[in-house]
Amino acid sequence: MENKNKEQIILNTKERLKIIRHDMPAQNPAKRVQNFKEVSIGYSIEEAIEEAKRCIDCKVPYCIQGCPVSIDIPAFIKLIEKGDFLGAAKKIREKSSLPAICGRVCPQEDQCEKVCTVGRRKDSTSVAIGNLERFVADYEAEHDKKNNLSNDKYLYDKKIAIVGAGPSGLAAAGELRQKGYRVSIFEALHEVGGVLIYGVPEFRLPKSILLREVQILKDMGVEIFTNVVIGKTITVDELLNEKGYSAVFIGTGAGTPKFLNIPGEELNGVYSANEFLTRINLMRAYNMNEYDTPMKCGKTLVVFGAGNTAMDAVRTGLRLGYSDARIFYRRSRNEMTARLEEIHHAEQEGIKFEFLINPIRFIGDEKQDLKQVECERMELGEPDESGRRRPIPIKGSEFIADIDAAVIAIGTNVNPIVPSSTPGMDLNKWGYIIADEKTGKTTKKGVFAGGDIVTGAATVILAMGAGKNAADAIDEYLKTNIW
Ligand code: FAD
Ligand code: SF4
Repeated sequence: MENKNKEQIILNTKERLKIIRHDMPAQNPAKRVQNFKEVSIGYSIEEAIEEAKRCIDCKVPYCIQGCPVSIDIPAFIKLIEKGDFLGAAKKIREKSSLPAICGRVCPQEDQCEKVCTVGRRKDSTSVAIGNLERFVADYEAEHDKKNNLSNDKYLYDKKIAIVGAGPSGLAAAGELRQKGYRVSIFEALHEVGGVLIYGVPEFRLPKSILLREVQILKDMGVEIFTNVVIGKTITVDELLNEKGYSAVFIGTGAGTPKFLNIPGEELNGVYSANEFLTRINLMRAYNMNEYDTPMKCGKTLVVFGAGNTAMDAVRTGLRLGYSDARIFYRRSRNEMTARLEEIHHAEQEGIKFEFLINPIRFIGDEKQDLKQVECERMELGEPDESGRRRPIPIKGSEFIADIDAAVIAIGTNVNPIVPSSTPGMDLNKWGYIIADEKTGKTTKKGVFAGGDIVTGAATVILAMGAGKNAADAIDEYLKTNIW
């Protein structure tokens, strides 16, 4: 193969450990805040091969154990070192259907990279597994248009319905189509991708990457119906009993925003993170000259929260034109849940972080436009049920800040439409679907579920893994008819 690294020199472990980790090249912070283009630029071929040399091919590869879908990480890294980038992509695709996406958004620092043997040494940092995954996926996109995945054969007449086109639904659809089934996806929104299209911004995950994955599914023969709200337009029971589907996979996510429930939350200029990001990402408010989506823009934006969603919202606000974009968080830096890379990028871009602050009311003018927020300062007490130290208000610490917009990014709840319209399917006390962890089987015959609608808000890789596992279980169910 033309890319093979013919001059590959076999290095010993000592030599490998001497190689310094290759940072991900990125757009200059001052420039990138003026555009919505992807922040990270990606490795060159030379950088990828050099980084791959850092892997010492451990006898016990902890990285595989750290990966939620058990990708054979040392194997794909060795293929990169040899210059067989398409082989590396194929190796990843044995376990992950969305490598270009996971290479960009997976919290590797908490998973494979956290346990990488090289990173556990005092004098070294982990192999950049995520950056390498992204590299091979992008290389594959450029050089292997067919993607090794096309399967135009229908081996079975049975049809399967996938409800929701987020990572769990897309992964389930791809797997089932590959197995030879007829697959239809039903999506409530007018575009496909779930959080990946309406939540995660372009500067972190370009839409073209997602659209490529969706196009692969379409080329494989997966039917996609948008603007169909299952539970309203048509129910799960109707899919099974009237429309001829033999099984249904539910991957409808946890997209209902949580609110603070404080006075003034209804004012113009107070948004849930989902609404803020959807208006900008999906409804193109970032391109106000060409699209009509209304979006307030002023000087000061405060985002309440400290997860990935909060980072996405505050950095999006900065790019939209807010010159003073801040995070207010009621705990401290140590309890932030956002990916380290996102926090680092936000800081580089000039986002201000203010800790141990809790909002108590929003204040508007006579037109009901947001003008100010009243907050109180907090201190940390004993750990709460989440294991993080509980924030406690400090008496007399209240203060008022002038703001033009507020975004509430404190988490989400279950999306209730499908659970409440599907009799016979058990839910837990929070309304999430109860499903078997390994198979996605629910308590209703023929119905499987996975992703955030089962686990609550989690990660792309876990949702994707749940979709893949459910696909295997659906295959078995349809072949054996045993429930
Ligand atoms: P979703 O992605 O929520 O998709 C569900 C789909 O179902 C949606 O398209 C929805 O419109 C559709 N749907 C809902 N109800 C119906 C219905 N009744 N009928 C038809 N369709 C329906 N995770 C990471 O790993 N890394 C990150 O960096 C990261 N960043 C994030 C940033 C933001 C802003 C948010 C909100 C989340 C982020 N996450 C991240 C979490 C991750 O995106 C989710 O865990 C993942 O998308 C869940 O996938 P899913 O398929 O379960 O659901
Ligand atoms: Fe390579 Fe790190 Fe995995 Fe060891 S743990 S095989 S060094 S990536």
